[in-house]
Amino acid sequence: MADSCVVIGGGLAGMTAAIRFAEQGGRSIVLERSDAEGGDGNARISGGLFHIAWRPMDEPADALFDAVIATTDGEADPSLARTLADNALEATTWLEKQGAEFARKGPRPYMKFALAPHTVGVGKRHIAERGPDQTMCRLYERARDLGVEIRTGASASRLAPAPSGWEVTYHTVEGVETVTAETVMVADGGFQGNQELLARYVGANAGSAFLRASDASTGNGLSMLLDAGAGATGLGRVYGHVLSRNAFDNDELWPYPPLDKLCLMGALVDRGGRLFPTAAENGVQLVNELVRTEDPRGFYVICDDALWQDAGTDNPYGTPVPNPDLQQRGGHFVSAHTLEDLAAELGMPVEVLRSSVASHNTATGKAGLSGAPFHALAVVPGITFTQGGVRTDDSGRVLDTAGHPIPGLFAAGSCVGGIQGGPRGGYVGGLAVALVFGYVAGVAMAENKTA
Ligand SMILES: Cc1cc2nc3c(=O)[nH]c(=O)nc-3n(C[C@H](O)[C@H](O)[C@H](O)COP(=O)(O)OP(=O)(O)OC[C@H]3O[C@@H](n4cnc5c(N)ncnc54)[C@H](O)[C@@H]3O)c2cc1C
Repeated sequence: MADSCVVIGGGLAGMTAAIRFAEQGGRSIVLERSDAEGGDGNARISGGLFHIAWRPMDEPADALFDAVIATTDGEADPSLARTLADNALEATTWLEKQGAEFARKGPRPYMKFALAPHTVGVGKRHIAERGPDQTMCRLYERARDLGVEIRTGASASRLAPAPSGWEVTYHTVEGVETVTAETVMVADGGFQGNQELLARYVGANAGSAFLRASDASTGNGLSMLLDAGAGATGLGRVYGHVLSRNAFDNDELWPYPPLDKLCLMGALVDRGGRLFPTAAENGVQLVNELVRTEDPRGFYVICDDALWQDAGTDNPYGTPVPNPDLQQRGGHFVSAHTLEDLAAELGMPVEVLRSSVASHNTATGKAGLSGAPFHALAVVPGITFTQGGVRTDDSGRVLDTAGHPIPGLFAAGSCVGGIQGGPRGGYVGGLAVALVFGYVAGVAMAENKTA
């Protein structure tokens, strides 16, 4: 049994693993980059809805497994999907025992397990009255009660083999420090906050997309594990939603309202008025297409008044919607009674815009645009987290490029690949994935199986 462990990242996956490891009698140290109690990751500012591929956590395991495979069009590793499905309810119950409060967020079946209170988030602000924020702070308290040492303001940057395990180098305001342990768990939340890595793995211009997330996760874990010989999978895929481009200078416009539906139904055009002909089925798939374009910040969605009036009707979460919340929150859009006037307002060639709308109107699955006034919203793909990452087995052990476990190295949460993605966006859930794999890995680390 391994009795010492260093966890890199005090987010949901990391804290779950550290507490579970402590419950087995192990001693763990959590290195958390931010100074904030509760960390500064995505879990804290998330919507708090635990689901697996839009199914509630207490659905029968086989149904959850099938949903993961179907959602990812078979791209998810079946052994990871099995672990996620089999441990979903147990891990959720465990989280409740740690002090998390769940309450139904809305009428649909998958809305059953949402962290309460359900106050809407704004930008990356920490809001003490929100369930996700409170849960992360409770996990910190619970960890300390069990003897976990949490070093905040500690940003890990290097991993090296040591005689008795692994040495982690980290930076604090005071300088560079190291810590050694038999096992290391990487749970730093992905690489969405690193424009260079987004350009390398997702698309040359993906770094100019909007970061619909905490900026704390910059891929240190991925880089450290790749240097240690880890394999990786699905690095090109992201989860996200389309937002108003005004979100760049107005926090009220992210993470909500999402403009996915408007963009899927309306005519998406570039700065020159040319149609972006997408057949995406959902917002995540569309975001993946947009972040790979030459100019992710250069899109507008054109809609007619019927579509715009409809843009507030479907609101199962109770979160802000495009109409009327976008405008009420300070977002802008341009309206005109003719397409010609709209083109003039936007500085687009009239003929190009007219022909784009005509092509759009004949495309299947789109809303035909006909009724004035017409509206144009400047939009941008927002990246919430990267779906790909290092390869692990179903216990969270990091696998090398040949598929063999690297002794003493574990990973969980958004820095791990193989559980979501796929050609249609393949969103399986972020919180459930972080919780379940942290939950399972915490015990596996204590056993430190290397076979
Ligand atoms: C606005 C928003 C809404 C969301 N809503 C939902 C939702 O309703 N349901 C859902 O399932 N998912 C949701 N998600 C996604 C979900 O929050 C994430 O998938 C999940 O939190 C990932 O957990 P994690 O532990 O891997 O990473 P995180 O929770 O992001 O934690 C990572 C931690 O690592 C720390 N860290 C980073 N780098 C280092 C380093 N080098 N050294 C030390 N520490 C480091 C960070 O500061 C952070 O505390 C949402 C995300 C956002 C941004």
